[in-house]
Amino acid sequence: MASSMQNNRVSPPGYCVCCRTCNMWCWRAFKWLPVLLIVSIVTWSYYAYVIQLCIFTIESTVQQCIYLVLYHILLIMFAWSYWRTIFADIKPIPEKYKLPEAELEKLLSAETEDAQRTILENFAKDLPIVTRTMSGSVRYCNRCVLVKPDRAHHCSICSRCVLKMDHHCPWVNNCVCFHNYKFFMLFLGYALLYCLFIMSTCLPYFIRFWKMYQEYKHAHCDNLFDIGTFSKQCMDILNGDFGMSGSAGRYHIVFAFFVALMFAISLGSLFGYHCYLVAHNRTTLEAFRAPMFRGGADKNGFSMGAYNNFKEVFGNSPNKWVVPVFTSFGDGIVYPLPQQDEDTESLLSSERWDRWGERARPFDERESSSFDEL
Ligand SMILES: [Zn+2]
Ligand SMILES: [Zn+2]
Repeated sequence: MASSMQNNRVSPPGYCVCCRTCNMWCWRAFKWLPVLLIVSIVTWSYYAYVIQLCIFTIESTVQQCIYLVLYHILLIMFAWSYWRTIFADIKPIPEKYKLPEAELEKLLSAETEDAQRTILENFAKDLPIVTRTMSGSVRYCNRCVLVKPDRAHHCSICSRCVLKMDHHCPWVNNCVCFHNYKFFMLFLGYALLYCLFIMSTCLPYFIRFWKMYQEYKHAHCDNLFDIGTFSKQCMDILNGDFGMSGSAGRYHIVFAFFVALMFAISLGSLFGYHCYLVAHNRTTLEAFRAPMFRGGADKNGFSMGAYNNFKEVFGNSPNKWVVPVFTSFGDGIVYPLPQQDEDTESLLSSERWDRWGERARPFDERESSSFDEL
């Protein structure tokens, strides 16, 4: 029945396949515009910083070399993290979560909500899920026809369910989720450092140009409004030429300072917020709506303590924490849970954590019941 319903879906009148394909490609191209904007800004900032500041403005060779080396290290780390966030291999939800045809038929033909709930509950009884909907039933995506693993959500832009979905980010044209969250954090961190580095190294030149501008203006243009016309020197100021050569470059450096400042403010607040989320083991979605467990909603339901939460995203090896290679724990399907009952020895959170951390694919090993007791 379900497949026949899907097969019978027809396009609206006057909406041909060609138009639909064309629209789809336009939409796909449109979604890359924010990424293109970021790449353009970074390319321009390279010109402003490397060519205009380091090569044409800075006179000391030692200073030039130090600035260029530091700048390129930050740029490479930033671009690498950005690349990995955009092109992360986001794995689909495992097949065993998908409702088979027979189950789907049963679900669609069920007459009451309670009957549907029971069908889903029966199907999910062997799946390691601990979270529920607000009404206490199994979380189900009717667009992907699957039972949602814990922390997975449907992304309407990607048109699929995504593991540990944080949010869909237009600036990376991708979902930020289990598979690229570490890359996203590093992208924010390196982008912030990149902006702060440009700001701090441009600042002395920005101040110097400002002083030169003020002196030149004072010497030549104080009577600007009295005479009512622009003198040659006033026009020079508008062209950025106030007393020294290399006038056009000054605007690039001043502009680079302001753009870096603007981005540093927004990146700083976003990065700070995500550091808070990492420390509390929450996704952006979970920060807005606490995950629902059998015992009720709990915003700290996945928190294992700040350091363990950090390791869950960044891994065990400190030397890989700042490198955009995948080191997050687990498989994005099963997550360790904090201690729920102090009297229950088998549920000690440290033990649960250790057992989870050691296993490459805890989801496949059903010997442990520690994940589905809650
Ligand atoms: Zn879905
Ligand atoms: Zn998405």
